[in-house]
Amino acid sequence: MTHPDLHLHTNASDGQMDAYQLARLVQRAEVTLFSVTDHDTMAALPAAADWADERGLAFLPGVEISTEGDEEVHILGYGVKADDPALNECFAQMRRDREARVRIMGKRLDEMGMHLPVDEIIRQAGDSVGRPHLGRAMQEAGYVGSVSEAFEKYLGAGKPAYAPRPTPSAEEAIRLLRSRGAVPVLAHPEEYQWPDEKLLSRLDQWQRAGLMGLEVYHPANRQRYAFYDQLARSRGLLVTGGSDFHRENDGHHGQIGETAPAWKNAVRDAWTLYRLVNAN
Ligand SMILES: [Zn+2]
Ligand SMILES: [Zn+2]
Repeated sequence: MTHPDLHLHTNASDGQMDAYQLARLVQRAEVTLFSVTDHDTMAALPAAADWADERGLAFLPGVEISTEGDEEVHILGYGVKADDPALNECFAQMRRDREARVRIMGKRLDEMGMHLPVDEIIRQAGDSVGRPHLGRAMQEAGYVGSVSEAFEKYLGAGKPAYAPRPTPSAEEAIRLLRSRGAVPVLAHPEEYQWPDEKLLSRLDQWQRAGLMGLEVYHPANRQRYAFYDQLARSRGLLVTGGSDFHRENDGHHGQIGETAPAWKNAVRDAWTLYRLVNAN
């Protein structure tokens, strides 16, 4: 029996656990085919692959690329190689851009009389510094009462300290993944809250660019699994699924293995993807 979870985060991005801690939970949840898909980094993949190897579990190396700037669209890539130079250069550029953006916003806040230790904020945030880190520092310094107040008054789109976020477009990420022999999949479509016509036209555009799958069995899609399942299959897209686990006792993201029971064709779908990746 295959029990897949193809969407998991470690502390290489914004999850709580390292690859080994995560792997222990994967085993405890009786997940037999899993993927680690951190945001814009592949740093945890070698350790996860080693662990899977030791225990004879099937592992799909993955990544989740942030695209399209502030209207964030996430593109999952399966079958990536952790030492892929083109992908690593893309992620390094994204880190440099994130840091530059935080410096621009920090300077604007400074000009408004809010003095924040920007170097320290960047250093502590690690690889994915962003507006929430600035918001928390503003709260700690007493400039705002809460992070949401910081966004409403200063950091949100169109507010005085706001700077746009440079990221690749979804289409660029899809083309890059395909050019590296990986399988691009649109993550959690329901999270974007698009009208169906918009989703359909974007799928047209992205399938032309090389999109190969749709993440149907994700907690955000829970109310519309049948719709997305049928949509993906009718368009010849692979059906994938995963919990988007970040940490235990998490009200926002899923818990390991949680979407597999609703995924009737999990065995066939997950192995189709696995075989496709390993045939490359
Ligand atoms: Zn995501
Ligand atoms: Zn995710």
